Amino acid sequence: MRDKISQIKKEYLEKIGKAKSLTDLDTIFLALFGKTGQITQIPKEFPKIPKEDLKIITPLFIATKKELEQEIDKRRQEIREESYRKLENEKLDLTQTKTIKKQGHLHLATQFKKEIIDLFESLGFSQFDAPHVEWDKYNFEYLNVPKDHPSRDLWDTLYIDTSNLAVEPGQMALRTHTSNFWPRLMEKGQTPIRAMSFDRCFRYEAVDARHSHTFNQFEIAVVGENITMANLKYLSDYLLKAILGKEAKSRFRPKYYPFVEPGVGIDSLCVFCHGKGCKICSGTGWFEIAGAGMIHPNVFKFTKLDPKKYSGLAWGFGPDRILMLKHKFDDIRYLLEGDLKFLQKF
Ligand SMILES: [Zn+2]
Repeated sequence: MRDKISQIKKEYLEKIGKAKSLTDLDTIFLALFGKTGQITQIPKEFPKIPKEDLKIITPLFIATKKELEQEIDKRRQEIREESYRKLENEKLDLTQTKTIKKQGHLHLATQFKKEIIDLFESLGFSQFDAPHVEWDKYNFEYLNVPKDHPSRDLWDTLYIDTSNLAVEPGQMALRTHTSNFWPRLMEKGQTPIRAMSFDRCFRYEAVDARHSHTFNQFEIAVVGENITMANLKYLSDYLLKAILGKEAKSRFRPKYYPFVEPGVGIDSLCVFCHGKGCKICSGTGWFEIAGAGMIHPNVFKFTKLDPKKYSGLAWGFGPDRILMLKHKFDDIRYLLEGDLKFLQKF
């Protein structure tokens, strides 16, 4: 019996030492002091033990029982303290605020601008930005639109009030197109010119879903020897395939613009119905995408370049309209308003 008590003591002191949680200790306690626990069972065997032996066994039993109880209590206390310390280290500072960094992105129109500029830079085009507030000569006169010519009615122009300046009325305007950049370049008399501009233009328009007083234009101009309509056709297809997909192709229709001769309207095969006719192309299978042509010989009059030796092409289109078609939204004003709900989609 003495051995048995020593064995229980040894075994359980070890288990208590290794206990990791209060649940472990509860299990140990039950195994020792529960109804059928090892310590609980021992006194039941006392009647079988000779009285002489009991004199030694009883105090040993009482001491062991007490020691095991104390050890369990001690370990219980230790585990509690350990968990308090752990909690203290893990404490939450509810007053702390976390800075959430939200990554923004470029505006849809700016993304498109970058895409188009990259596309033409790879063909050797350079960017050239001309003034938004422009002299009449660069916006109209040098572009074969003389003063009082009826073709001026093609544009609803916003003129600058020059009454406080030493400038005659009607000499300054917000440019109506990006075309003002190429007479400025041609005036310098250097060739070849392979330039582009993606920028804002302004017209006196009533704002609605399809019109705005401020809008973007992308325009290219090429001047040099042996520039022909074939170059114009190639560049048109190059642009359309890049922005609308491989299936896209262009079609030229005769169209009047004062600064080109011949002038063409460039249509794109409707990529939405594959030319069959849909709502977007008004059932025609094509939609107008750009205006272009060969630079009019009269434009050369204002430059040092000889139109017999040099020729040029120019075309421009409205990127805003292409974005509306590509992303299927039907109001141009989304591009000018800072509505995050709209902008975050792209
Ligand atoms: Zn269509």
